[in-house]
This record gives sequence, C-alpha cells and structure tokens, in this order.
Amino acid sequence: MNDSWSFATKAIHAGQETDEQTGAVTVPIFQTSTYKQEAVGKFAFSDYGRVDNPTRSALQNSLSTLEGARFGLAFASGLAATDTLLRTLSPGDHIIMGLDAYGGTYRLISKVFGRHGLSVSTVDLNDPDAVHSAVTPTTRIIWTETPTNPLLGIVDIGKVAELAHGVNALLVVDNTFATPYLQQPIALGADIVVHSTTKYIGGHSDVIGGFIALNDEYLMQELKFLQYAVGAVPGPMDCYLLLRGIKTLPVRMDRHCANAEAIADLLSWHDAVDNVYYPGLTTHPLHDVAKRQMRNYGGMISFTLRGGAPAAIAVAEGTQLFTLAESLGAVESLIEVPGLMTHASTADSPLEVPESLVRLSVGIEDIADLIADLSRALDAVA
Ligand code: PLP
Repeated sequence: MNDSWSFATKAIHAGQETDEQTGAVTVPIFQTSTYKQEAVGKFAFSDYGRVDNPTRSALQNSLSTLEGARFGLAFASGLAATDTLLRTLSPGDHIIMGLDAYGGTYRLISKVFGRHGLSVSTVDLNDPDAVHSAVTPTTRIIWTETPTNPLLGIVDIGKVAELAHGVNALLVVDNTFATPYLQQPIALGADIVVHSTTKYIGGHSDVIGGFIALNDEYLMQELKFLQYAVGAVPGPMDCYLLLRGIKTLPVRMDRHCANAEAIADLLSWHDAVDNVYYPGLTTHPLHDVAKRQMRNYGGMISFTLRGGAPAAIAVAEGTQLFTLAESLGAVESLIEVPGLMTHASTADSPLEVPESLVRLSVGIEDIADLIADLSRALDAVA
C-alpha cells in the first residue's frame, strides 16, 4: 500500500494485495474454523476462527485504511459492532446521543444496555449549551450519526469532538450514511467510527456486517479482546463480499450522489411534498457544515407528505422501481415509511419520527427511470 494513493486506488488495493502464495488477484475466502498447530500452542496465523481469519484481516486492513484509522475490527452486523463497543462501558456510565438516529441503535442503548446500568440522554448536538447541560460526571461517550437516519440531520463533527474532549468523553460517529469516501470523521476529530457495512460498504443488499475504526491502541486491544471473547464476528464469505463491494465504493457513491441530487430537486417542487430532508439542498439548515465536512451529500433523502401518513403509505406502496423494503445503501433504489418500519421502535421516545415521513435510498439505476417512477407515485397523492 502506498500512502500517496488516492481514495479510489486505495479502495481497490489497500488490504487487498495480490495473494503471495498463489498470485490470486482477489483476497481468498479462508472458509476455515480452525488452524493446525505445529506444536501445542505454536501456530502460524491464529489458533481459532473466532479469534482471527485472514479474509477478515484483509477487510479490517482495507476499511480502516479508507477511514484513515490505525485500527479496524469487523463484526457480524452494525448492531454487533455497537454492542461490542458499548461493552467497554461500565454500569453507571452515561451516553449522550443526538435527537435523530437509527432506531435500533437507540433501542440497543436504552432497552438492552439500560438493563445493565447504562443511561442515555438525547439532545441537539449542535447546541453546545444543551450538550453541556446533559453532561454528567459519568458521561463517557457522545454518540452521533451524520447525516442522521432518517432525517438527514448534520452534526458538526469538529465542534462536537471539542465538546466531548472538554469533558473527557469520546466522540463516536456512525459513518454509515456518508461512508469514508464522502466523510472521514477521525480526521475531523472523532475518536471512533462505527459502520453498518450492510449498507454502502457492501452495496449490493447481500450481506449483513458492522465495523469499528479507531486510532487508540489501548481501546483497540480492549475491543479486540471483546471481539473474540463475545464472538460477534463475520464469516469469511461475508468479509469477501464486503471487500468486493469496497472496490467500487467511490464510483457507486458518485452515482448515488448525482441521482439523489436530481431526486431532491424533483421533491423540492412537487405539490404532494411538504418538507424535503437532504443536506445537499441549500435550504438544509446545516448545508454549510455538510459542504465543509463532506465530499458530497450521499444517496439518502427523506420527505414528508402534505397528505399525512396515508399519503406516505400510498407513495411507498405506489412505486415500482423503488422497492418497498428496509435497509439502504445498495445499487437498487429502496423506499420505506420509517415510522412504521425501520424506526417503529422509536415511537413515544425522543427520537420518534414524523408519521408522514418517507425515506428513499436512491440507487444507481438510470435517473430518468427513477424520476418517472417516483413522479407517478407522487402525482397519485397530489
Ligand atoms: N447504523 C445505521 C445508521 C443504520 O441505518 C443501521 C441499520 O439500518 C445500523 C447502524 C445497524 O446496522 P445493522 O442492520 O447492520 O445491524
């Protein structure tokens, strides 16, 4: 790996060097659960597949390089990565989160770790006074997504990192929506990046995975211990699929961004639509921050319908090319109603989403076909 390579070159080659033994140009799938030992306790690579796997190591090297981090660990899902990270905390510890995030992350922190003594406060992370008033002597982590799921909020990573470090807390950024191609949180001041690699990193709706990237060696050792002690590791085939997805990440993201920009424009003038949430629009309240900290604005867009929840359901059920499904970040366009689907678990919580909200994951199909499909569904409720 050459440090001077650009992102697109690193995406194809970093961690994915030609196999020395065979000359294979793709990373082999080491579908093994264990390794022969030459003598008791003497082994070449590892003693067991949960502890290490060469295909997983390649993925860890690849994605940590792209995030500009010294270390990376791969997990069986985004929530498994988050779960492992939360296990570094102790009963009594406190987390501060933004007001918008993936419902499953909030559910894990509040409902699962709540039982084990962690507490969570939710505040507007762009409001320093609100953050300061939420801080307690046991605040360990400020947790944010940016852009957020599903309302496409933007958080100023540099500013919140300063706030976190001022109170001896770590800033964790879920970089799932942006990917390291569009935004590198560690370079902006964050301590830890988490991913659902299920989304843009895989990019083809065929794998579930998660990732943690970080620079701190001590924390890395603790997480590495938890990775094998708890065991939420990805299989070698999944690691291979993620490595393959990573090679095309920059070209896919460029197309996702271009298509999303055109769809955001359509939504901005359509009579059926009330609000459009997309950081690329100059009307987005934190467009300037997004412009500063991101290369481009991503493929996710949300919007509310003037016709309320019935119109949202009708639009989500009315498209043909946009598939009605949970998840995001793949080559095919998806549509969903967060309040009834991905974010149903946030009902009656501070993270509850508007009932007339529709979320789009804009794929990389031909933009004319996407516009025709969505226009038809919107016209039907206008
Ligand atoms: N983070 C974000 C922003 C997500 O959207 C999701 C899932 O939708 C997750 C984390 C959880 O990832 P996974 O479904 O891979 O467990």
